[in-house]
Amino acid sequence: MTDSIQLDDTCPQPQSAAVRELLASTPTKELFINGGYQAAASGAVLETLDPATGKTIAHIANAGQADIDAAVLAARTALTGPWAQMTPLERSMILLKVADLIDQNMDELCELEILDQGKPWFVARWAEIPAAANQFRFFAGQAMALEGQTLTPSVNYQPPGKQVQAWTVREPVGVVAAITPWNSPLILTAMKLAPALAAGCTVVHKPAELTSLTALRLAELMTEAGLPAGVLNVVTGEGRQTGAMLAAHTGVDKIAFTGSTATGRAIVDASKSNLKRVSLELGGKSPALVLDDAELDITIPGVANGIFFNGGQVCVANSRAYIHRSIFDKVIEGIAGYAAGLKLGHGLNQETQLGPVVSQLQAEKIESYIQSAKQSGATIVTGGERLGSFGTFIQPTIITGTNNKMPVHCEEVFGPVLVAEPFDDINDALKWANDSDYGLAGSIWTQNLSSAQRLSRQLEAGTVWINTHSMFDPSMTIGGMKQSGYGRDSGKQALDNYLEWKTICAVI
Ligand code: ADP
Repeated sequence: MTDSIQLDDTCPQPQSAAVRELLASTPTKELFINGGYQAAASGAVLETLDPATGKTIAHIANAGQADIDAAVLAARTALTGPWAQMTPLERSMILLKVADLIDQNMDELCELEILDQGKPWFVARWAEIPAAANQFRFFAGQAMALEGQTLTPSVNYQPPGKQVQAWTVREPVGVVAAITPWNSPLILTAMKLAPALAAGCTVVHKPAELTSLTALRLAELMTEAGLPAGVLNVVTGEGRQTGAMLAAHTGVDKIAFTGSTATGRAIVDASKSNLKRVSLELGGKSPALVLDDAELDITIPGVANGIFFNGGQVCVANSRAYIHRSIFDKVIEGIAGYAAGLKLGHGLNQETQLGPVVSQLQAEKIESYIQSAKQSGATIVTGGERLGSFGTFIQPTIITGTNNKMPVHCEEVFGPVLVAEPFDDINDALKWANDSDYGLAGSIWTQNLSSAQRLSRQLEAGTVWINTHSMFDPSMTIGGMKQSGYGRDSGKQALDNYLEWKTICAVI
């Protein structure tokens, strides 16, 4: 099976003139602060590579303290500027325009994302970049629907003849530091920026150092859409430097973070400086429970897609599958067949179904999980090898014979690696599914409505899918239980991250 998973290492030219120009000039992209570009005060830059080939596509600024100070000051100043004077409708119109501009610049944004991150064309073009536009559309509506409450107080010490009236209003939390990861850069950025701006906040965005290009381009499009200077600032640079400085900055009121659980802990520590509000969308080890009556025609491609989509670099990926023993061999054979049919190649090739993982470091990390599983006696059903001259392509991999003590089974691998185990009793499978530090998502595959209903409530996860996995919509909120984080992205609930309640009490 392994031999049949081969790599097409051709690398097509981008279609978009802007991206062809970028490749020809490998520019140094500057920081976006207060509506314009500026180099890092220190002049420091980082290389950004095409993960499929290892070639340099651009340099980005490596922001230090002076740059973070400037970006936070711009965002604080913008909090009381024209942005604060705008009506909800005016803000909403800007967010709608941003969505339209994403659509109008679709090819460029897709190609930038592919070259920077490695994802296949179909993932960028048909899933993530349109979804980014739709986050802005959804929150454009929410911007006009923020609500407070009228209260019914029973205060009995008001002056005679007077009445006590009280109500609540919702106000923007202030300056938001949005810190985002490299797996799905633009959509995860949109999931922070759209609700933050709908709430009336201003933002300093720190994209991942591996994948900052679409964030910088988005800042230009947002300016074109009419966002006043300083409302969105983008500071690029290393997590442990730029990210840490931003997270600790006392001019920041709230951190909205997506990334690893380890970095989430560092963010919570940094937030103590001024007791910032924090929301965290962290790692996962999401289980798929496949019952004996599952409809295999949808379950096999569904579970396979749930782990191999975007090379498994998806926080909700179903990286564990517990499958009823009576159908285990058939399902595994089906998923292995699906894996064998995947076309590995450069994301710009529109036939590609599986691209490289984001970096050499990530490929090495994934490989070490596979090696350690092998050494512990697990069986590699298919895959397990790195391919390509730069070594960042990983064959879609299925491993059985694992247990919850093995790192590959209990830790987030963030690669195209599925661990699958058979069960006899669904209550055992449920116990294994919940025996995890994570609680981000899960799926149940069955035709039995009662089983689906019962298990969906018993699974410890922020999202449970039934007969599907990784289905998203701006109306559906996403976030974790346990060490998968707190706070929610997407959906109306995301607004809670960016709004404070204020109570107003009057004697009239
Ligand atoms: P990974 O470990 O997979 O690279 P991270 O969770 O570390 O993912 O990265 C998510 C985002 O957090 C990135 O933008 C990264 O630069 C940033 N980051 C990393 N370390 C820190 C830190 N100590 N403080 C703040 N941000 C950080």
